[in-house]
Amino acid sequence: MAIEKVFREHERPLGVDEVLSCGRKQVDSLNKATVYRNLKILIDDGWLKRISHPFLGTLYERTGKGHHHHFHCHKCNRAFELPGCALNEDEAAPKGFVIEDHEIYLFGVCPACAKVTK
Ligand SMILES: [Zn+2]
Ligand SMILES: [Zn+2]
Repeated sequence: MAIEKVFREHERPLGVDEVLSCGRKQVDSLNKATVYRNLKILIDDGWLKRISHPFLGTLYERTGKGHHHHFHCHKCNRAFELPGCALNEDEAAPKGFVIEDHEIYLFGVCPACAKVTK
C-alpha cells in the first residue's frame, strides 16, 4: 500500500532507493527486501513496469501511460517522464531496417534545478 502511494505521489520513474526513502515516511519499518518483494508483486500484477535507464539502472514506473520517453536531470540525478514522442519511425532508419520499437533518453537540467542555478 505504501509503495503504491509513493508511485501515485511521484509522476516519474523511481529507483528502489527512492521508493524506500519515500515509503519510510509512511511505514517506518520498511526495508529494501520488502520494497523489492512488493515491487515484484506490482510488476506481476501489471501495475508497474521496469525500465532500464542508462545512468540510473533499473527504475520502476506505472504502466498504462502509453508510449513516452524520459528525461534525465544530471543535477538532481532524477528521471522525468516526457509526454508523447517526437520520433518518426518511418524516417529514423535507412531503408531495409525494420524498426519494432525504440527508446530515447534526453539529458539535461530539470526546471527545478535550472531555477537554482540562475
Ligand atoms: Zn534536476
Ligand atoms: Zn517514441
